[in-house]
Amino acid sequence: MNILIANDDGIFAPGIQALAQALRPLGRVVVVAPEAERSGFSSALTLDRPLRPIQIAPDMWAVNGTPADCVYLSMNGLFNFEFDLVVSGINNGANLGDDVLYSGTVGAAFEGRLMKQPAIAVSLAGPNVRSYETPEDFAVAAQWVHDFIVQGLPVLPPRHILNVNIPDVTELKGAKITYQGRRNQSKPISSHVDPRGRQVYWIGLSGEAVADPKKGLTDIESDFFAVANGYVSVTPIQMDATNYAILNNLHAQFSKNG
Ligand SMILES: [Mg+2]
Repeated sequence: MNILIANDDGIFAPGIQALAQALRPLGRVVVVAPEAERSGFSSALTLDRPLRPIQIAPDMWAVNGTPADCVYLSMNGLFNFEFDLVVSGINNGANLGDDVLYSGTVGAAFEGRLMKQPAIAVSLAGPNVRSYETPEDFAVAAQWVHDFIVQGLPVLPPRHILNVNIPDVTELKGAKITYQGRRNQSKPISSHVDPRGRQVYWIGLSGEAVADPKKGLTDIESDFFAVANGYVSVTPIQMDATNYAILNNLHAQFSKNG
């Protein structure tokens, strides 16, 4: 099996090193990742300058681009063989609820959405995300991803991927299939004056989880709920953002008016 690994925290991030190490027994693992952190880049592609991949070790490439660039390039010409699976991560921090809209970890996985096996975005969800500095911090999560792949990945329709969030605990309780929850509005922006007297701003932290209506599901909880209770959260997500119920209503209204 040829496995492509990408991320948005950059080629030198401990999470991607732990993931590559854990998956190597499963086949040929090729790591292609941004040369520096590109968190929050979603599915952005670089269109205004050339991409220059640099091989920094056997089967390990740094790219002066985005997470999605890395996967796009890997599947479209950088290699003369095909990949069987794309895994993105392990991200330093959760990608729960609304985060999937911004996440470069998820963006990289979506770039692998037409593969036969579902691409997987993996994030480590801990209380203090910036405390992770070594691959060992990601070892439990990386081992879980290895075991999950060995069990056999679920079959999903085309253009669907799995968004996996692993709580930062020494012993996982198991995994739950979840739906994508919601966050409150992000925390306030932080404004400063730089040394040259110019006003600058930092985007605020993500909002807290919202207690979400359960969307008509009885036994199924949100991604936030699973992680908060010590379970790995596995959410199937899709490229098609159309709301078909609203589409049908609008279609009926427009037809009546027209
Ligand atoms: Mg990141």
